[in-house]
Amino acid sequence: LLMAYEPAKRLAKLQVQMERAVVNARMIYEILDMQPHQREKPGATDLVVSEARIEFRGVSFAYGNNEAVLKGIDFVAEGGKTTALVGPSGAGKSTVITLIPRFYDPSAGGILIDGQNIADVTKSSLRKHIAYVSQQPYLFEGTIRDNIRYGRPEATDAEIEEAARLAYAHDFIKAQPLGYDTPVGENGVTLSGGQRQRLSIARALVRNAPILLLDEATSALDTESEAAVQKALDKAMTGRTVVVIAHRLSTIMKANKIIVMQAGTIAEEGTHDSLAQRQDGIYARLNQLQPKAAADDFI
Ligand code: ATP
Repeated sequence: LLMAYEPAKRLAKLQVQMERAVVNARMIYEILDMQPHQREKPGATDLVVSEARIEFRGVSFAYGNNEAVLKGIDFVAEGGKTTALVGPSGAGKSTVITLIPRFYDPSAGGILIDGQNIADVTKSSLRKHIAYVSQQPYLFEGTIRDNIRYGRPEATDAEIEEAARLAYAHDFIKAQPLGYDTPVGENGVTLSGGQRQRLSIARALVRNAPILLLDEATSALDTESEAAVQKALDKAMTGRTVVVIAHRLSTIMKANKIIVMQAGTIAEEGTHDSLAQRQDGIYARLNQLQPKAAADDFI
C-alpha cells in the first residue's frame, strides 16, 4: 500500500507546484498589464494613493475548497516602510503577497490601501501602483530594452537607461554585443542569475510604483552579483512601501517591521531587536538556531 501511495503523493505534490508556477507567471503578466480586460465591480473608482499604507483586516483565504491557508490575518505595512514576512515554508507568506494585486480575493476580511478597500477600486489603478520582483525573474522574448520597458510601456529610452543605472545593470548591458538592443530570452544571450535579477529590478524601478512586493531569492548568487543585487534592491526599496518575503538575516534586520507567520496566522510581530529578546519566542528561537557560519541565511 505504501509503495502505491508514494508515487501518488509525489504526483500530487508536483501538481501543486505546477499550479503555483502558473500563479507566479500570471502575477508577472498581470502586474505588467497596463490595460487589463477584467470585469470591474460596478461603480469601481480609481485607487488614490497618498502614503501607500497597506492594511490587512481579518483576512482569511483558502485555495478553492481546500483548508484555509490564511486565518484572520491583521497587520499594517506602513507607507514608505519595509515589512518583512518570515516563517516556515507553507506558512502563507506568498499567499499574503498574492492578495495585494488581487490575483485572489480574501474569503473573509478586507485589504485597504490608504483606507480604500482594494475590492472596490479598479484593478488597473490598483496594479499601476504595484511593482513585483520575484525570486525567479522572467525574461520575455525581445531585447534588454524591451524587457525593462515591460515595467511601463510608455517609458522613454532615457528613463530605461536611468532605471538600469540605478539597478546596477547599465555596465553589464553595455558590455553585451548590441548593448540595450541585445536580444534575451530563449533565442538571445544567456544572462546570469544576478544579471536577470538586476533587469527585473530595473523593470520595477521604471514602473516607479509606490508599492514594491519582493520575493527574496533563496539561492545564493556569486558574491559579486550578490552585492550588486543587494545595492539595486536597496535603491528600489527606498521611499516605497515594501512587503518582502525575506530569507536573509540582513534584510530582516533592516526591516521596519517583521511579521512572523505560522500555519496561516501571525504568530509574532515587531522589530528584530524586540523579537529576538522575547522569551520563548518563535523568532528568538529561529534566530538562535541561525548558524553563525552561514551568517545570512535565516530560513
Ligand atoms: P514558501 O516559503 O514555501 O513559498 P509560504 O509561506 O509562502 O511558503 P504559501 O506559498 O503562501 O506559503 O502556501 C501556503 C499554503 O497554501 C501551502 O499549504 C501551499 O501548499 C498552499 N498553496 C499555495 N499556493 C497554492 C495554489 N495555487 N493552490 C493550492 N494550494 C496552494
